[in-house]
Amino acid sequence: MRDMQFVMHEVLHVTDEFKSMPQHADTDVDTINAVLEEAGKFASQVSYPLNSSGDTEGCKLNRDTHEVTTPTGFKEAYKTYVDGGWAALSCDPEYGGQGLPLVVNQCLYEMMNSANQAWTMYPGLTHGAYASLHTHGTPEQKATYLHKMTSGEWTGTMCLTEPHCGTDLGLMRTKAEPQADGTYKITGNKIFISAGEHDMADNIIHLVLARLPDAPPGIKGVSLFVVPKFNVNADGTMGSRNGIYCGGLEHKMGIHGNATAQIVLDGAVGTMVGQPNKGMQGMFVMMNAARLGVGNQSLGLTEVAYQNALAYAKDRIQMRSLTGPKAKDKPADPIIVHPDVRRMLLTAKAYAEGGRALAIYGSVLLEKSHNHPDAKVRKDSDEMLSLLTPIVKAFLTDNGYQAATMCQQVFGGHGYIKEWGMEQHVRDARINMIYEGTNTIQSLDLLGRKVLGDNGVALKKFGKLVGALVQEEGVNEKMAEFINPIAVLGEQITKFTMELGFKGMQNADEVGAAAVDYLRVAGHLVFGYFWARMAQVALREIAAGNTDPFYVAKLQTARFYFAKLFPETATLMRTARAGSKVLMDTDAALA
Ligand SMILES: Cc1cc2nc3c(=O)[nH]c(=O)nc-3n(C[C@H](O)[C@H](O)[C@H](O)COP(=O)(O)OP(=O)(O)OC[C@H]3O[C@@H](n4cnc5c(N)ncnc54)[C@H](O)[C@@H]3O)c2cc1C
Repeated sequence: MRDMQFVMHEVLHVTDEFKSMPQHADTDVDTINAVLEEAGKFASQVSYPLNSSGDTEGCKLNRDTHEVTTPTGFKEAYKTYVDGGWAALSCDPEYGGQGLPLVVNQCLYEMMNSANQAWTMYPGLTHGAYASLHTHGTPEQKATYLHKMTSGEWTGTMCLTEPHCGTDLGLMRTKAEPQADGTYKITGNKIFISAGEHDMADNIIHLVLARLPDAPPGIKGVSLFVVPKFNVNADGTMGSRNGIYCGGLEHKMGIHGNATAQIVLDGAVGTMVGQPNKGMQGMFVMMNAARLGVGNQSLGLTEVAYQNALAYAKDRIQMRSLTGPKAKDKPADPIIVHPDVRRMLLTAKAYAEGGRALAIYGSVLLEKSHNHPDAKVRKDSDEMLSLLTPIVKAFLTDNGYQAATMCQQVFGGHGYIKEWGMEQHVRDARINMIYEGTNTIQSLDLLGRKVLGDNGVALKKFGKLVGALVQEEGVNEKMAEFINPIAVLGEQITKFTMELGFKGMQNADEVGAAAVDYLRVAGHLVFGYFWARMAQVALREIAAGNTDPFYVAKLQTARFYFAKLFPETATLMRTARAGSKVLMDTDAALA
């Protein structure tokens, strides 16, 4: 909570940003803090107690009825969530939402992801489906679905993946046949659909990608449909069961409490969202929301893994400190005295706090892209968010997995057994690097489309933010240790990007060979920028006589980040420069 408040109110001054947006002009610091205080209670008291039991119990499919039973307590927790109005927090008041800024929802979801990622995915996916219908739905679709999705009475899913088609959605086969009444009959098989079937809500609203009979091949022939589990009558009441069923549940490494469903569409009735063959436009609204959401899942896991490991490291005693006993009254010292245990803890802390600053910044950009009265601010915010989205998705989830395994390591053998909960964090964190476009695909999106695709214009805009901070603090000696690294990397990345652009024009594999390294370099530029801003605030507070140890902690973590994590950028640029030949001229090695 304290760190969220620091980022929102002391670094980004979110309520100042809200003043220019009429719908949020009155949202003040106290309101945000009060809501999040309650959110913390919900996460820690309602959904967290179900995390481990949900993992053990998993979901069960009744093959006769096609109904799925979620782990004990999930349904009741969801009712508490809906009754508490949490589903509606940042939704549009026109559809019954509370209209609070998205940043509040961002923080609520970070807490809920810390508490129980598998449970949180049920309401989480609804937000993406809601956003897609809100942007691209017809007035009838909005009237039919948005009120119930806002309240949380109905949940949503995204149905893209098919057995033969994951990354390459152009290979999709699910068919949609137009009917005389303007609806479509949809037939096909989807797999891996998160929250695809469950017992927590009365209806499930699936957003399904499918092909029209005359659709051109590939991704340009994909359309988007809304397909409810139960058809909805004209008066809004629930009608007959639609032909969309759960045919099986996946057995998987983690997030056992979330039903990963095989979905059979057998002439299911749906209506089209958006234009024929332009389904990806509507789906992208959902996918972008989901990409930010997946980054937030790993942010939550990083934080909870860190909090647990920190408590354990203070309690567990093993061996003596290299510099002599510290806990003289005990037979050994707590393991937190050992430098490498501190490295693992600080890595998780630095990734959590850097990630939190970026995620909160992203939610402010999203807010401005929707609600700022000035069209130019809306456009600029949208472009910046578009650049940062693959970084939020891939950098936060790669870091989250590293952080979770390091925190598991802090527990030694006790991290490997189930009792302490750490192995679950590692298993749960692993999926975040895979779904919503693997992290490789995110890196291609960043380097290929978002950076080289627009000649580096968006990247330069981020570079300007870095440049402004360097300008502001360049002569402040106390800031030199935080400013110099980002000033240098800012210059290096411009040259590095141009170099990759030239190489990529001659051989497109050069982009593919460098992209993953490139995303981590860009991720560190972004984290470095936010760490420098956080250090700036901390230094100012300390200089003004503030004795809150929070600021000292912030500076120490910033120093650790720049000394131990940020320097991997040098290695990454070097390995990226190794080029594609060492990967592609390897047919004998990979024979
Ligand atoms: C638990 C779980 C929940 C999921 N939830 C949903 C959901 O709710 N809705 C939904 O529609 N889908 C969902 N998915 C599907 C998920 O989004 C896909 O698994 C993912 O996008 C990858 O697709 P794939 O599994 O077919 O892998 P593939 O596309 O077969 O990829 C295999 C490997 O090849 C790499 N690769 C592919 N193309 C390229 C390329 N051009 N360049 C470099 N590397 C490439 C990939 O990065 C990956 O490493 C879920 C999956 C799981 C496991």
